Amino acid sequence: MPNINIDNLKHSQIQIKDGGKIIVLDTGAVIGPEAEAMLQALHSRSVGGLQSHLKILSEKGPDNFMKNFYVGYGHKSIGDCGTASIFIEGVSMLASKAVQDWPLYSGQESSTRYVDFQTQPFKNPAGTKEGEEILEAYRKFYIEALEPTKEYLRAQFPMRAGEKEGIYAKAIAARAFDILRGFLPAGSTTNFAWHTNLRQAADKIMLLRHHPLVEVRDMAEAVEKALQTAFPNSFGHEQYKNTENYNKEWMEKDYYYHDKNCPEFKITNNSINMDLLPREILANRPMKTELPKYMAEAGTLQFKFLLDFGSFRDIQRHRAVVQRMPLLTTEIGFEKWYLGELPKKISSKVGIFLKQQEEKINKLNVSKEEKQYYIAMGYKISNRLTGNIPALVYLSELRATQFVHPTLRRKAKMMADSLLELFGKFGLVMHLDKEIDRFDIKRGEHDIVLK
Ligand SMILES: Cc1cc2nc3c(=O)[nH]c(=O)nc-3n(C[C@H](O)[C@H](O)[C@H](O)COP(=O)(O)OP(=O)(O)OC[C@H]3O[C@@H](n4cnc5c(N)ncnc54)[C@H](O)[C@@H]3O)c2cc1C
Repeated sequence: MPNINIDNLKHSQIQIKDGGKIIVLDTGAVIGPEAEAMLQALHSRSVGGLQSHLKILSEKGPDNFMKNFYVGYGHKSIGDCGTASIFIEGVSMLASKAVQDWPLYSGQESSTRYVDFQTQPFKNPAGTKEGEEILEAYRKFYIEALEPTKEYLRAQFPMRAGEKEGIYAKAIAARAFDILRGFLPAGSTTNFAWHTNLRQAADKIMLLRHHPLVEVRDMAEAVEKALQTAFPNSFGHEQYKNTENYNKEWMEKDYYYHDKNCPEFKITNNSINMDLLPREILANRPMKTELPKYMAEAGTLQFKFLLDFGSFRDIQRHRAVVQRMPLLTTEIGFEKWYLGELPKKISSKVGIFLKQQEEKINKLNVSKEEKQYYIAMGYKISNRLTGNIPALVYLSELRATQFVHPTLRRKAKMMADSLLELFGKFGLVMHLDKEIDRFDIKRGEHDIVLK
């Protein structure tokens, strides 16, 4: 059995002001991220090769090099050459989305499909009793609905011959969590990891510190402190007033996107130049294979559609397309799919419950950004998504499979159909899941369980 000695590792840990914590992982590597960045940067000034760079590293260490050349002279690309893993725990779904709103985000987050949210803390930025009551009413609903929903699902999709009880039970639970996540507030806390190079971390923090949500600003401060502790020579860049003011202004005024008249689904712009998409390359692509990236040069297609916030959390992770960060409100309404999946005795009461919650949310004395914490994830947002052909084909094929949440799957299928309608005549093929609406117990096998 492999044995890793982790006792002497010094992870840099910082508490976030109002709860939650940041941990920068110490991997115990002899050559850490800063040293690795230095080794690569030495290539730019000498042809001695790695052996000679290693000699310099062993004699001098990376500290001064990173302080002078990376931070001091601003050779930003050196910071691309070392990476770190930051674990962010106990923050709201809104805070994790803020970090993930980045074309180079890498990392993983707790899944609402496999994690039971009955005891997860909910963030209450108003700090009031009224706020707490709204959040705890969601929890009560989630707890009370969980078992009856599972029962209802078992009756609809009985176990088939040859299926294993353990896997079947997980598939039923995953489906119940898929339904009940619609009634969890966006202020539910989650854990996620952010694997980033040193430069991207600094660039992203530069924006997060001006985020409209206090929680995100506090998280950004804690991430920066933890990174400064872990890599004192690579963080602590000088701040320039004009840049800070500019970022602050657009983050305050224009970060969130909200169109209460957003159509159910519509193509709102098509700048694709078909002359730049060779027919045989579109036509000959096998399954699970991506189109060549150069095809992005042909232009972009823009979609506007309604999607519940729960499913936005999933689609947002597609980094090769551009998506605005939507403001979560109750204005566009609640996604009917969640209501239709509940057992009748619960669904008949849920309309009144949501109405009461809405009235209480409207009375809270907080900004529209902070109201998001109290809004259930089944409410719809307006999504504007712009992407090139390779990125859109990848996204719609991946998300139109039977393993994807039904509300997202439906929109992904609409995107796939639009792509076929527009570009099928030019050779585009789409490899789509044929068994799109079947309840499949394979969902129960997708959990990550340690043996
Ligand atoms: C069923 C299912 C369950 C999942 N469960 C979880 C979960 O529990 N937790 C979790 O954290 N995640 C989960 N995910 C999310 C998943 O890990 C991916 O983050 C998400 O699907 C985005 O897809 P992607 O990273 O494969 O590619 P994309 O980000 O869509 O990228 C598409 C392609 O473009 C490339 N690319 C990436 N960024 C760019 C860029 N900026 N410009 C150009 N090209 C780029 C990629 O390398 C890839 O080749 C799940 C996904 C699915 C489908």
